[in-house]
Amino acid sequence: MENTSTPTHCPYCALQCGMNITPLPQGGVEVTERADFPVNRGALCGKGRTAAEVLSPAVRLTTPLVREGGRLVEASWPEALDRIAGRLAATRERYGPDAVGVFGGGGLTNEKAYALGKFARVVLGTSQIDYNGRFCMSSAAAAGTKAFGLDRGLPFPLEDIPRTGCVILVGSNLAETMPPSLRFFTELRENGGTLIVVDPRRTRTAEQADLHLAPRPGTDLALALGLLHLVVAEGRTDEEYIRERTTGWEEARAAAMAHWPEYVERITGVPVPLLREAVRMFCEPEAAMVLTARGPEQQSKGTDTVGAWINLCLATGRAGRPLSGYGCLTGQGNGQGGREHGQKADQLPGYRKLDDPAARRHVAGVWGVDPDSLPGPGRSAYELLDALGGDVRALLLMGSNPVVSAPRAAHVEGRLRSLDFLAVADVVLSETAELADVVLPVTQWAEETGTTTSLEGRVLLRRRAVAPPPGVHSDLYVLHELAGRLGVEKGFPTDPEEVFGELRRASAGGPADYSGITYRRLAEENGVFWPCPEEPAGTTQADGGKPAGTTRADGGEPAGTAEAGGGEPDRGALPGDAAGADAAPPAVAHPGTPRLFLDRFATPDGRARFVAVAHRATAEEPDAEYPLLLTTGRVVAQYQSGAQTRRVAELNAAAPGPFVELHPRLAARLGAADGDPLAVVSRRGRAVAPARITDTIRPDTVFMPFHWPGEGRANTLTNPALDPTSRMPEFKSCAVRVEVVPRS
Ligand code: SF4
Repeated sequence: MENTSTPTHCPYCALQCGMNITPLPQGGVEVTERADFPVNRGALCGKGRTAAEVLSPAVRLTTPLVREGGRLVEASWPEALDRIAGRLAATRERYGPDAVGVFGGGGLTNEKAYALGKFARVVLGTSQIDYNGRFCMSSAAAAGTKAFGLDRGLPFPLEDIPRTGCVILVGSNLAETMPPSLRFFTELRENGGTLIVVDPRRTRTAEQADLHLAPRPGTDLALALGLLHLVVAEGRTDEEYIRERTTGWEEARAAAMAHWPEYVERITGVPVPLLREAVRMFCEPEAAMVLTARGPEQQSKGTDTVGAWINLCLATGRAGRPLSGYGCLTGQGNGQGGREHGQKADQLPGYRKLDDPAARRHVAGVWGVDPDSLPGPGRSAYELLDALGGDVRALLLMGSNPVVSAPRAAHVEGRLRSLDFLAVADVVLSETAELADVVLPVTQWAEETGTTTSLEGRVLLRRRAVAPPPGVHSDLYVLHELAGRLGVEKGFPTDPEEVFGELRRASAGGPADYSGITYRRLAEENGVFWPCPEEPAGTTQADGGKPAGTTRADGGEPAGTAEAGGGEPDRGALPGDAAGADAAPPAVAHPGTPRLFLDRFATPDGRARFVAVAHRATAEEPDAEYPLLLTTGRVVAQYQSGAQTRRVAELNAAAPGPFVELHPRLAARLGAADGDPLAVVSRRGRAVAPARITDTIRPDTVFMPFHWPGEGRANTLTNPALDPTSRMPEFKSCAVRVEVVPRS
């Protein structure tokens, strides 16, 4: 297997582009295009194309490290694992199980996320587990669940986008965050459809739009309400749809009607004629979509903001209909799967709720434990980080770098430093790993097999293509070894396919049902959309055709045929091919569910629920001391906290460091020239980076990318004010002042 080309998926964003990995005779591997995966059809961005560089021992960890005399020094695996187990046990013994925290990541595979959640609740007995995906999409997840009874990033495949009539893209700069996805929107326009982009900046994505609306940061909620007001005022609602398929319209309608277009213009800065134009473009075609990303979601009112955009879809009959609907563009590689399998503070595998007695019984049955022994919901990510060194004394962290990515990052860094004990498992020595007492070097992406779930809800198989460097083990091995040392000998296998088999059972019957998905199907069908329940015996397909008696939720073609673009011609051997229940032709036949909600929503009565929401200010409005708004985001050549991409020469050359984007009028007022060092100061701290003057940003707003640590760390400034429902921090808007730093 390890000498041939292996089809797999990119380690980075939620698009999960298909790629081939081929080991080279001289060492290292080559990443090449893989045209059979329908999402990217061979296209890769620079991050994916250069991903293999992070496999090099020159840039990654290969030996466990332990802190001695204040320094991290090399250690053996048994020594490092003994130290972690001993300190976690001692902390639990002295302070109780909730004094031990666990922090995961949206880049972990489904198997790792599942095992980490089980480890926290079964081995440690702690309720204190959450993950960095809380900072990513939790507001959209909360709003989607409220409205539709189920959260799956996109309830339809990306391939539907070119065939709809209009897309409103809210707060997504996908031309930089996931460039291969731009083609869906280009094709939309080529087909006669229109694209509306909502973003305070005229980004590379907004440049592609037919209409760009540039609201003040943090006012997307008012914008959506203003559009809904006009929809009602202009008689563009779909009354039959509202009557037949929704509840709660009267309250939502009344709330929207309080948001007059002129009032919305004053709040957002978007002129009324542009609001009217957006309504016309959205309502005239037969089908239309609203897609949100971090812009409207990373706000202290993110759940209500997304709810307002969903209301717009529902009032116009554009959800749960072909080529229409609301969707969230999840960011991290396994942002979707990461929130489904139990590393979130309030959830159990299968997207079950931790406080649901039936869910606890089901999962406890799979785990072989007493349901009453499972802890209840714990703190959300920021609240957990804020509690470090307080009642949480020790932390096990996997696949996350909160020193760079958390809001109010200097404070979070201080909390991490105040811990009695910090253990980090990571691929590289991230800024967070540098603070640890023990660091474990773990396998990554091309060195291990596992599944991820893309932003479409498509479960994908990433396959091991190369051996890891000597001395590097998987996260599953870490959990297996720690569980054994903490007295739990069984239940933490190191084989990912075995973990996935248990995950399938734990998810069976839940909202995110994976029970009908096997590794073999994932390889043969190029991914399977959940929910995919295991079919009762008797529906097994020998020929791979559509099973008799299988009901389709969407009425479309099964995944693996037209949707999935055919099979993989060169898939190589599969883990578990030799033996085992999953090695046989699958005894399941459900085709998966590319499109949700076409017949009914996942609510008890099958109807979508409007939510009545009203505009409210951001948690921190500008004032005399801090007169500007800061918004943050990403650039094309770096990924999230940059822990991996900052180690790739080509990406570093393209995006070597942070900058402050500001409008020429603001620059003139400050007396700043391009490249001048600027200090951006908020109530939480100060960051310094060179000026980048551009008229693509509003004069009342500055922008910083958040990929870097040190004095240019944007998250030093951001506001941890939390959304009351999703517990999402307000990354996208805070009050700042900007000063030119005299050059010495
Ligand atoms: Fe595709 Fe995202 Fe990887 Fe780029 S980073 S290649 S867009 S999956």
